[in-house]
Amino acid sequence: MSSVAPVQAAEVGEWAAETDVLVVGFGAAGASASIGAAAAGVAVHVVEAAGGWGGATVMAGGSLYLGGGTPVQKACGVEDTVEAMFAFLQAATGPDPDSAKLEVYCENSLEHFDWLVRCGVPFEAKLWTEPSWEAPTGYGLMYTGGENTYPFTEIAAPAPRGHVPHMTDKKPGERSAGWMLMSHLAETAEAAGARAHYDTRVRRLVVDGGRVVGAEVSRFGERSFVKARRGVVLSAGGFAANETMLAQHSPRLLGNFLVGTDGDDGTGIRLGQAVGAAVRHMDAGQTSFPADPALLYRSLLLDRRGQRFINEDSYAGRTGQAALFTQDRQIFLLYDEEANDEATASSGLPIEPTWVSDDLAELEGEMGLAPGALATTVGQYNAGAERGEDPVCHKSSRWVRPLRPPYGVLDLRGAQFGVFTTGGLHTSVRGEVLSLDGEPIPGLFAAGRTSSGIPAWGYCSGTSLGDSTFFGRRAGRTAAAT
Ligand SMILES: Cc1cc2nc3c(=O)[nH]c(=O)nc-3n(C[C@H](O)[C@H](O)[C@H](O)COP(=O)(O)OP(=O)(O)OC[C@H]3O[C@@H](n4cnc5c(N)ncnc54)[C@H](O)[C@@H]3O)c2cc1C
Repeated sequence: MSSVAPVQAAEVGEWAAETDVLVVGFGAAGASASIGAAAAGVAVHVVEAAGGWGGATVMAGGSLYLGGGTPVQKACGVEDTVEAMFAFLQAATGPDPDSAKLEVYCENSLEHFDWLVRCGVPFEAKLWTEPSWEAPTGYGLMYTGGENTYPFTEIAAPAPRGHVPHMTDKKPGERSAGWMLMSHLAETAEAAGARAHYDTRVRRLVVDGGRVVGAEVSRFGERSFVKARRGVVLSAGGFAANETMLAQHSPRLLGNFLVGTDGDDGTGIRLGQAVGAAVRHMDAGQTSFPADPALLYRSLLLDRRGQRFINEDSYAGRTGQAALFTQDRQIFLLYDEEANDEATASSGLPIEPTWVSDDLAELEGEMGLAPGALATTVGQYNAGAERGEDPVCHKSSRWVRPLRPPYGVLDLRGAQFGVFTTGGLHTSVRGEVLSLDGEPIPGLFAAGRTSSGIPAWGYCSGTSLGDSTFFGRRAGRTAAAT
């Protein structure tokens, strides 16, 4: 990793460019920061290491976590309140949720929805209720955090809050609703006056007496300095592409596949740390479960002892976290023919079982489980399922049904999870980067996955883009007002 030690302003011979606010990275957070700052009437330069805007944002499903009674929710007949949204997120994004950020995020969610619409982001008022990572074209609202599943049904009135921008020709993971969101944000930022510089990478921050006053950038090997009169916003993504940082902070995320871009190399976080910034929840990460949610919900998810450890209808990122962080990825899915057929009909995805048998004892042998382990788990599950209940893990009755032979097993031991990091720089609700003493570092701001935000530890789909856009705007505004 190249050095990120800051440069003293006195050592800068010449400033190649000057601006009021310098934004680092042109993804969702950087675009929103640029809009926030430019709308305040100051000069904004946004530098992007890649050849164009987008970052991980353009690959995303595009779901934004919004609620409290948005026009989309109302049009879908969904009742929601700010209080229910807050109570849910407080429980779902912990341990150690950022309550101060959650409070402003929930209270201003309707205003943020309106802002996205003003940026041109189109939403579709149609509710999707099948288990899946992304809603198909034509659907604009879905449950994205397990709001209608245990234990959250006992904490807050459930409501779907995943708002998906409308897009017709989706190619999931490549050009999906995240691309649609980002194209509108980038357009709005440039229309507001933000000047973009591509193929330009920030290497080091420039400081003057404890204040961040600019940055050293490189473009095709040429280094120069950009002065930022009001401040620098770090919005350069997370660190899931940096194996050294993963090993240092969240080693369980190693050996999986990156949900993001090469730009997630942790530079933004390291730049902040190099000038004294504190970090939060560097071990946290979104971990997509490595099987189709439509099958997962209808199956029994088993640990290495053949026992269940979570209700399978949980949000699949939450199930992924449980499987990766608490089970060391040593997991199996057990299902029956009806589950297989229903899941295939729902998602269209083929299922390739590792083993198939009518006999649980035979499957136990294949799976290396103790004799009787599967019979006990399935017997207990079926006994409850006959009554439409799951007294062990509290799966919702919609998915509870006795499993019958023939059975299929997916051996997911060692399967790769899709991961990105959610830990990062400690920031205030205004987007200021905070020092180890909890004080704002003058001239330094951060947003998106460079910072720790709404997905403090637990994750719900939509909280990354929701947080990146919401706190990106605030960081840009605060920088402009400095
Ligand atoms: C397939 C997929 C699906 C997803 N679906 C969802 C979803 O539905 N909802 C949701 O909330 N989240 C989703 N996510 C996660 C979400 O897309 C990201 O967490 C989010 O886009 C992060 O935004 P950001 O602005 O922080 O970073 P990015 O969008 O990655 O932008 C950071 C930018 O900074 C640039 N950069 C890095 N270092 C430097 C440097 N030193 N100098 C200059 N530029 C630099 C990078 O090149 C990059 O363009 C998904 C991600 C993927 C990949």
